[in-house]
Amino acid sequence: MSVGQSNVLVVEDEPAQREVLAFNLEAEGCSVSKADNGDDALLYVSEDMPDLILLDWMLPGVSGIEVCRRLKSNSKTRDIPIIMLSARSEEVDKVRGLETGADDYVVKPYSVMELMARVRAQLRRVRPATMGKILTFEDITLDSETHRVSRNDQSIKLGPTEFRLLSTFMEKPGRVWSREQLLDRVWGRDIYVDSRTVDVHVGRLRKSLCEYGGEDYLRTVRGAGYSLG
Ligand code: CA
Repeated sequence: MSVGQSNVLVVEDEPAQREVLAFNLEAEGCSVSKADNGDDALLYVSEDMPDLILLDWMLPGVSGIEVCRRLKSNSKTRDIPIIMLSARSEEVDKVRGLETGADDYVVKPYSVMELMARVRAQLRRVRPATMGKILTFEDITLDSETHRVSRNDQSIKLGPTEFRLLSTFMEKPGRVWSREQLLDRVWGRDIYVDSRTVDVHVGRLRKSLCEYGGEDYLRTVRGAGYSLG
């Protein structure tokens, strides 16, 4: 999917910021929908699924973090990438934001150029290298076309970032990937995400893969990074 065909929902209660985001997204060719509170955002998503959501953390009524939690716990909406926007810069808040299921997290005041790069990275969801391929490793199967992952015939639900991580690992089992290499492959080289983000998403992937039991094949290689098997 190219950025230009995408429908982006902007959830931001400050009118000036909402308009700046809408203006820049429209300049990229996106169609933009806007909400100024959490309830309207949830209502909008239930009626018309956007391809991506930019979600302010501090909103009147239902908070951004709660909107994110609800969307990510619903199987119909969990795959919509969410970029959280927040004035909170504490590392603990960032981790909390990501653990709620947000796919990325941007601290205000952000650079619009950097944010747009992150938007593009999230929308670049189809990875041509593995398109249409079914990858297997031990009892894990990944279908890159239907985005289905299963283990021992049990279907495993992954967020978009965890799916991209797993397909990277499954392309080359046994290869040790550094955090920087994973950032390049999974998040895109033109954006800045710190390596703690990689750890959070690998942790989430590990948890999902072991949800119904089975061996933990994700190896943490001290001082080097991660590998599958
Ligand atoms: Ca706000």
